[in-house]
Amino acid sequence: MVRSPVWAGRPKTRGLVLDVIRAARSISRVELAAATGLTGATISEVVRELIGDGLVVEAGRGASTGGKPRTLVQLNPVARYSVGVQLERNACVIVVVDLAGRQVARTSFRGVASLPPDQALPLVAAQVEALLTTAAVDRDKVLGVGLVSYGPQDRHAGVLLTPQPTEEWYDYPVAPRLAEQLGLPVLLDNDAAAAAIGEYWMGAVEPHSTYGCIYMATGIGGGVVVAGEVYRGSSSNSAEIGHISIDVHGEECSCGNVGCLENYAGPSTVVRQALATPGLARRLALDPAADDFLTEFARIAAAANTGDPEARELIERSARYLGHAAVTVAVLFDLDVVVLAGPSFVVAGSIYQSVIQQELDRRLFARRAHPVRVVPSVNGSDAAAMGGAVLVLQSELTLGRSLPEDGARPAPAVAGADEAS
Ligand SMILES: [Zn+2]
Repeated sequence: MVRSPVWAGRPKTRGLVLDVIRAARSISRVELAAATGLTGATISEVVRELIGDGLVVEAGRGASTGGKPRTLVQLNPVARYSVGVQLERNACVIVVVDLAGRQVARTSFRGVASLPPDQALPLVAAQVEALLTTAAVDRDKVLGVGLVSYGPQDRHAGVLLTPQPTEEWYDYPVAPRLAEQLGLPVLLDNDAAAAAIGEYWMGAVEPHSTYGCIYMATGIGGGVVVAGEVYRGSSSNSAEIGHISIDVHGEECSCGNVGCLENYAGPSTVVRQALATPGLARRLALDPAADDFLTEFARIAAAANTGDPEARELIERSARYLGHAAVTVAVLFDLDVVVLAGPSFVVAGSIYQSVIQQELDRRLFARRAHPVRVVPSVNGSDAAAMGGAVLVLQSELTLGRSLPEDGARPAPAVAGADEAS
């Protein structure tokens, strides 16, 4: 694999220019200078380098503003690619995206269930290889793989710090092992944080907004993005809203806390409640022995959509609890937007959206200063995998950090030399 020359020499300046071009889709050099605050001479030089490296191409002329029409530049989408892998017990999604963040290939398969990592990771690697072959993507142009999964995790070491789905996964070097098998750099990150940054990259939120993402798949996670970067906290285990307590007298959770949101609002809880409602369980033919409870949850969500009062009550109750959590996160971070992402919002997303919006409108501390909008993710059930791929692009292109070959700690951003340029 080639080491991209993307940030050789002047990482911050090139990253900044690339990010502005990405966000604008196409832009003139004059507009680039205005948007970045860099001089026209610096912009000309940086754009010439980026065109020379094949990362940027000229793209026709913009409207004239009096003088001669300006030549526009845009990212060259086929210059680089990245892979996003969302790893879960019940469902896995793999995507290949181009430099512009467009999905060029996708596959999904049943999750890793209760396989130990030394059996599960070769299966994941085989799926990635097959997808890259199907997409006919030049492997030399693949920057790396963003592997995203639940927390807690040690992102820098590339290990999960949870015995899920089995004991063998705890502290197992998932990212380094997958990197060895694929011969590509692999970064590990939180699925909800990845889903959150994916929204930014796809242009779904204002570039300067502070927004939160509630990610619901098997479990419930969260991510907060400030000015285009995920808020990391001290160990990248921030905004884990599934494990904030909503009942101080609640039952103990496997995480150690009591009364965790996930145990009140998560899909497995809704399924359990539906099974305990005999009429509903019979009507929807719910299977109490099903190990794939996301399918059962989707059935309840679909019934809620079509007006089944008992199904609707359960989904609304789950949404109300999520609304409590959304208010908490919005109060802590003074958010503008809350994005709902992940497969468990796909079927009854509009019910969740309106109930969570009601809670924020009613109870938010800063509601008189500004509203907080609740919106569905542009990436839907692929949000985490797309975000994983975007984290690779962002890490390589705009933050000036190279992905490690062995999947271990990314190098810190190189500061210095060209900062003034
Ligand atoms: Zn918990």
